[in-house]
Amino acid sequence: MALLPFTRPSIDEATIAGVAEVLRSGWITSGPQVREFEAALSRLCGGRAVRTFCSGTAALEVGLRLAGIGPGHEVITSPLSWVATANVVLEVGARPVFADVDPRTRNIDLALAEAAVTPATRALIPVDLAGLPVDRDRLNDLARRRTLRVLEDAAQSFGASWNGRRLGAFGDFVAFSFHANKNVTTGEGGALVLPDASLAGVCEKLRLQGVTRSGEDGMEVDVLGGKWNLTDIAARIGLGQLARLEEFTARRRALARLYFERWDRVLGCELPVADFGNCNWHMFQVVLPERVARAGFIARMRELGVAAGVHYPAMHLFSLYRALGWREGQFPHAERIGRSIVTLPLFPAMADEDVERVCEAARKALA
Ligand SMILES: *Cc1c(COP(=O)(O)O)cnc(C)c1O
Repeated sequence: MALLPFTRPSIDEATIAGVAEVLRSGWITSGPQVREFEAALSRLCGGRAVRTFCSGTAALEVGLRLAGIGPGHEVITSPLSWVATANVVLEVGARPVFADVDPRTRNIDLALAEAAVTPATRALIPVDLAGLPVDRDRLNDLARRRTLRVLEDAAQSFGASWNGRRLGAFGDFVAFSFHANKNVTTGEGGALVLPDASLAGVCEKLRLQGVTRSGEDGMEVDVLGGKWNLTDIAARIGLGQLARLEEFTARRRALARLYFERWDRVLGCELPVADFGNCNWHMFQVVLPERVARAGFIARMRELGVAAGVHYPAMHLFSLYRALGWREGQFPHAERIGRSIVTLPLFPAMADEDVERVCEAARKALA
C-alpha cells in the first residue's frame, strides 16, 4: 500500500485551468490576480485591509516593521512554533522572549507571557499551533492592559474562529501563511491583515523595495523594502483554494472527530484539545508517552505505510537561540512536548478508512 502522507494539498482541475490561463495571459507576476485575491481575503476578514506576500514569514516581518518594532525592543512569543515566528523578531533587530506553553492547548500560556513583560516589551506574537486559537479575549485584554501590539501568527489557523468570529476579522495585525502544507495554499505565500487601512501604502512599499510610483514616470524610494510580493500564478491558486475553504475545514473537522472516536486511549498518548467550534484542524498531533523514542515510532509508522511529521522541537534550544542565552529547563512543557509530539495524517482528501489505518498502525508501533 502506498505511503499515507501526513498532508497533501487538494488542487482541483478548475484551479489548474485557471493557472494555465494566467500563464497564457502575458502577466504572471503581481497583477490582477493578486488584487482579486486580496479583495477576497478582505471580504473574509470583515472588510479589513489585507495585503499578500511571497510567504507567511514576509507577512510577519512586515507586520513587525509596521508596528514599529526594532532594536531595543522585546517581543514575547511561544517556543513551540515554526522557527519563523522568532526569526522575524531577530530580522527586525529586536529580541524574541519566550514564555512556556500550556500543556493542554500547547499554545503560549498567557499568564507566563504577562510575567515575561518588561519595560522593553513592545509586542506579543501568539501562535495558534495546529489551528487551535489562543484565547483572543485574554490575549487582547493583556495587550490593552500592558499597552502592547499584537501580531497574530495565524499561519496555521486560517479559517479558524474565536467564539463565532473568524480569525483575521478582528484584532491588531494578523498574519497568515499559504505554504504548501497549510489549510489553504498558494504553493508559497502569505497575507497580513492590517489594523488600519491607512497602513496599506507603507505595507506595499515595504513589500517591494520601498518603491512608490507616481504619474507616468515617477519613482521614489524613501524606506528600505524587501522583495516579498506574491505572483499572479500563486494568487490564482489561492483564489481556487478560497472557494473551498469551508469544505476543507469541515472535512478536517470530521476527520479529527474520527481520530477521537478511533484512537486507542490505552496507548497513553496525549490527544489535542477536542475543539470542533474554533479550531480549523490544521494538524492532528499527539504527544507520545515519555518511554517511547519518537524517531523509532516514526520509522515504525513508515514501515506500516503511514508518514508522521514533527511540528516542532522547542525553538529556544536551536543553537542560534542558545547563543542568545536561552537554555534547557527554562520551558519544561514546550521542551517535553517538542521532544515527543508527532503529527499524524490529516488533509481533506483523506478517506475515513485512512484514519482507521493510522490508528491501527499506531497501535502496532506502540505495542
Ligand atoms: C508556516 C508557518 C510560518 C511561516 O510561513 P511561511 O509561509 O512558510 O513563511 C510561520 N509561523 C507558523 C506557526 C507556521 O506554521
